[in-house]
Amino acid sequence: MTDTPLILAIDEGTTSTRVVAFDLEGTIVDSEGAPLTQHYPQPGWVEHDATEIWTRTDACLRAVSARVGVDRIAAIGLTNQRETVVFWNRTSGEPLAPAIVWQDRRSAGICERLRGEGFEAEVQAKTGLLLDPYFSGTKIAWAMESWPEVAEAARAGTLAIGTIDCYLLFRLTGGRVHATDATNAARTLLMDLASCTWDEAMIERLGVPRAALPAIVDSAGALGETELLGRRVPITGCAGDQQAASIGQGCLTPGLVKATYGTGTFVLAHAGALPPTSANRLLSTVAWRLDGRAAYALEGSIFVAGSAIQWLRDGLGIIETAAATEALARSVPDSGGVHFVPAFAGLGAPYWRADARGLITGLTGGTTRAHIVRACLEAMSHQTADLFDALAADGVTPNCLRVDGGMVANDWVCQDLADMLGIKVERPQVIETTAMGAAMLAAVGAGLFDTLDAAQSMWRTDRIFEPALAADGRATRRAAWHRAVERVLA
Ligand code: ADP
Repeated sequence: MTDTPLILAIDEGTTSTRVVAFDLEGTIVDSEGAPLTQHYPQPGWVEHDATEIWTRTDACLRAVSARVGVDRIAAIGLTNQRETVVFWNRTSGEPLAPAIVWQDRRSAGICERLRGEGFEAEVQAKTGLLLDPYFSGTKIAWAMESWPEVAEAARAGTLAIGTIDCYLLFRLTGGRVHATDATNAARTLLMDLASCTWDEAMIERLGVPRAALPAIVDSAGALGETELLGRRVPITGCAGDQQAASIGQGCLTPGLVKATYGTGTFVLAHAGALPPTSANRLLSTVAWRLDGRAAYALEGSIFVAGSAIQWLRDGLGIIETAAATEALARSVPDSGGVHFVPAFAGLGAPYWRADARGLITGLTGGTTRAHIVRACLEAMSHQTADLFDALAADGVTPNCLRVDGGMVANDWVCQDLADMLGIKVERPQVIETTAMGAAMLAAVGAGLFDTLDAAQSMWRTDRIFEPALAADGRATRRAAWHRAVERVLA
């Protein structure tokens, strides 16, 4: 009997890089990970060393390949932290400067200037994004203005620019391929969302050297080949992490939404074949591009999720472990009138108040830590419901939420989400949905499945949480939450 084929997913995250080997039934056969160094040279600045990212990824790839056997590896899929941008020499592959990480705020001044020039409406119409330092475009503009070695390489024609997917693809293929997939390109501020092509006007406005940009390609197909493992292995899938997670959660048709509950929460709602427009400052983005045709999604994020649980543990010291929140929440019939708005760093969609700060309301002499913990967990459902209200206002009405991330190990959280959203919440068996999505794309790109739909056979439900709270109970809780949010906004 010959061994069954495997797909290797490279999941290059913000704090670690991982390589996960999946079989075609979606089972994880092997994996290897390594942490990445975070550099904080100034307040608000976050940098990575692209060489470290590459060497760690390369080492993980070789380790997994050595254990599973390179002959079993049918294809490689890539997924990555989005928006982070790398500047390198297109001949040697050596970085010319630090990689500017998505969290980095150094281009806030450039965004401010462009907003002052009335540019944001055009940005939103063309790219589906907002003028925020988060996206790669103004990071590139900053580098061109501030790093002489980058500007000089642009003039000399030796500069290559790309997001992390692009840099890894370049290194994996020995410098033969300089390309980025449409989901990653969609996060640069430089891509026209409808056509998935570079927008010349945006490029010019941001002072980006056009010749240094990669080609925009599909999220699956013959993206390149690597010879690093001693045999040619095709690289056949690529998507940004949130898009990969959405694919890995099977959100392939309008109505399906995924939410990842980690430190923060990222929600992606599939929106179909046309770019959606948001009147509520949600982001409009590419879900994937296959055979030259893009599918789209609306995206929203919640700044504080698991980090509020960490604060209960490390800041307040009222719990020993994150997992202890589940029993505490169940130990009381309700939050005892306590509401917790964890606006530690402002409120996102649909409020958009960067200056907002957190609040706990309704404290009495009878309040216990169980009430505060329960109110904190309830805040996850309320914040998600707020995002769903924004989605509904933009014409997207989900009928199912698929969840992943560290927090959804908590059954109480999943049930409360179902209750407060009034839709079923599904949790998959394989929580590594990001790597799974990259593997699904690679499997399709390698012809192991005909379609992304067919690749969904790799996804299996662990548990479905059905809504059990009556509509009036939901309305009462929502009204109380909104009163607490009003106080925060006041
Ligand atoms: P990230 O990828 O952002 O680092 P993870 O997906 O690993 O985050 O999730 C970790 C977060 O989930 C932590 O903030 C932690 O507080 C929270 N968490 C982990 N387990 C539980 C649990 N059982 N209940 C509630 N929160 C949890």
